[in-house]
Amino acid sequence: MAAQIIDGNKIAAQIRGELEKEIKDLKAKSNVTPGLAVVLVGENPASQQYVKNKNKAAHEIGIYSEQHSLSKDAPEAELLSLVEKLNADPKLHGILVQLPLPKHIDEKKVLNLIHPDKDVDGFHPMNLGRMMVGEPGYLPCTPHGVVKMLAYSGYKPAGKHVVVVGRSNIVGKPVANMLLQKAAEADATVTVCHSRTKDLPAHCRRADILVAAVGRPRFITGDMVKPGAVVIDVGINRLREGPDAGKLCGDVDFEAARERASLITPVPGGVGPMTITMLLDNTLRAAISHVS
Ligand code: NDP
Repeated sequence: MAAQIIDGNKIAAQIRGELEKEIKDLKAKSNVTPGLAVVLVGENPASQQYVKNKNKAAHEIGIYSEQHSLSKDAPEAELLSLVEKLNADPKLHGILVQLPLPKHIDEKKVLNLIHPDKDVDGFHPMNLGRMMVGEPGYLPCTPHGVVKMLAYSGYKPAGKHVVVVGRSNIVGKPVANMLLQKAAEADATVTVCHSRTKDLPAHCRRADILVAAVGRPRFITGDMVKPGAVVIDVGINRLREGPDAGKLCGDVDFEAARERASLITPVPGGVGPMTITMLLDNTLRAAISHVS
């Protein structure tokens, strides 16, 4: 039987509804509106679209958001001084610098300059360290979205074997770490695979939960999915050729994997909407902690 779909749009809408209520309460009680600054450098069309979607989603639930756009040739110093200015602005509780940045800018330097209390993307080493040791902080949005999707779909990772394909600092490593935590919504046994992993299909076939974060269209084939597994597809790829050229697809061969999995996320409409939702959640938490 074909797998049930985990509908990221539906779960995201439910969580955003809850956040909207919390934001109204915060405004009523403390007269504080959560504020988010989104910084875009250059004209990468995908980044422009992500930034637009983030601003729109923030606005829809009552978060104040402002966009700062720098040209693709903007010197690193200009971006650093903008981040410092945003760090000091009291109406802004969260700062997000859209990645990737142009090659002449040191990404680490920029991310490390964002004040950890405003780091709503959860990429500052301070927040990554807090995540690692299980202390409260801002969790990276995409991995957090994956964990929430599992929780909202009623699937408990405790004791299950998770295989994560990909070890990037923004998806693979943090999602592995979060599912490994001794905590509700986690407690899994985790294997992390990457480009040097030997016999990747064998690892994948042992997964109760298979998380694909590779960045290669339809890389995970149906035969790599254990019957009954849960498949979470983080990948967002635009197909360049073939009958579906121009369309988005994930890292998983959806149709083939769906025949073997029990639950599966689609692309689009899976992890993507959850990523933005977790950004909104972090921004609200930042505003609340500013008040208290
Ligand atoms: P990266 O390119 O940073 O990392 C890709 C990972 O996949 C690396 O760890 C790499 O291994 C591994 N990999 C590459 N080829 C293979 C292979 N043949 N076998 C096994 N592992 C391999 O990508 P990201 O983590 O940033 O993103 C992954 C995907 O998720 C992309 O499609 C991206 O667009 C998408 N994404 C989606 C988001 C969302 O909101 N849904 C948010 C962020 C990303 P190695 O480390 O050895 O090089």
